[in-house]
Amino acid sequence: MSLVDETHDPRRESWVVSARNHAEFPIQNLPFGVFSRQGETPRGGVAIGEMIFDIKAGLEAGLFSAGAAAAAEASCGPALNPLMALGKGPRLALRRQLSAALAVDNPERSKIESLSARLLHDAAECTLHLPASIGSFTDFFAGIHHARNGGLRRDPNNPLNPNYKYVPVAYHSRASSVRPSGVPVRRPSGQRKAAAETAPSFGPTQKLDYELELAVWIGPGNPLGAPIPIAQAEDHIVGLGLVNDWSARDVQGWESQPLGPFLGKNFGSTVSPWVVTTEALAPFRVSQPARPAGDPRPLPYLWDDADQQRGAFDIALEALLLTEGLRAKGLAPHRLSASNTTDLYWTIAQLVAHHTCGGCNLVAGDLFGTGTISGPTLEGYGSLMELSNDGQRQIALASGETRTFVESGDEVIFRAHCRKNGAVSIGFGECRARII
Ligand code: MN
Repeated sequence: MSLVDETHDPRRESWVVSARNHAEFPIQNLPFGVFSRQGETPRGGVAIGEMIFDIKAGLEAGLFSAGAAAAAEASCGPALNPLMALGKGPRLALRRQLSAALAVDNPERSKIESLSARLLHDAAECTLHLPASIGSFTDFFAGIHHARNGGLRRDPNNPLNPNYKYVPVAYHSRASSVRPSGVPVRRPSGQRKAAAETAPSFGPTQKLDYELELAVWIGPGNPLGAPIPIAQAEDHIVGLGLVNDWSARDVQGWESQPLGPFLGKNFGSTVSPWVVTTEALAPFRVSQPARPAGDPRPLPYLWDDADQQRGAFDIALEALLLTEGLRAKGLAPHRLSASNTTDLYWTIAQLVAHHTCGGCNLVAGDLFGTGTISGPTLEGYGSLMELSNDGQRQIALASGETRTFVESGDEVIFRAHCRKNGAVSIGFGECRARII
């Protein structure tokens, strides 16, 4: 598990001026992504303040050696799968050498800074792409408050299915329709049937919803037939991001009898473009909250003492809504909810161990969604299904508009930040998309 080292030192400052006190991308973060400038092919970069560090340019300038150079070489293509496949050692080496290269107290600073026109690009002039070519996308259901809120409608006395506290429930979702933040999502049509109707009809979804989730980027895979033991799960995780698992609730409700989500979920998913590494997140690890008294202990293949002690993350999440009405009046996005990743019932290592326990092979660049992360009360609910109680509660906006589900023209925005005394706060960058 990653340790706190000199790259997290709160005293370390960058000569990249915009990185100082930056809410998302100070020198302590250094998330990986894929960017391009106009007319150029996409390649790997690292966010630093308002700039993007060009890894290929850094490699050509001779800034990296040994493992770090191998990691930089693996980051020069249009997707970061080769970097992800290399695993932690080279990735950490690149982080440490890049952090040193960007630090104000580097003895070579003036030489490196003189190359900044080649090394750094204004992020506002770059396009951000998916960080990886995603082979598989698995969406879990690890947010227990979300699971309970969904179940309350089905059975108020037993909102959680009997398997919930034993199995990290998931479904195989659709990788081909994942898009980076900023790409609009088309309102899907599908077959739906309201409870009061006798027969289904086909048309645009009337219950378009978002799901606030953490994205997990998978690193080195495992051979088919060789499960990843929970104690080694950490070696297979590159880092985290945000994912909006857009959901058409009316389509989902009608089709998911008895199998799981299909067209209600496969029309589009939005991910934040930056991969915040487990190395960057080291100061923000916390113990997995103790299970409530009476809950079963996880089966042995899902239990690891070190994972229970340090396997969870303290990441504050928020979901915002920007409507045409708010935009027209120059009003700020409406904050829909705030929650925290400590509301997850399972750790990420448990998700990896469970996914592979039957021998399923993970591949570098695979994407997990954790499941909707809702807090225990209304202010923390991570979907409109929960916030509006399936359309029965109107959400009032400062523009005078109301919402129960997402309307066309609306933009849903997710943000995430890690804050802790004695550590420099880091952010994830936005995960946003507009419905057309
Ligand atoms: Mn989901």
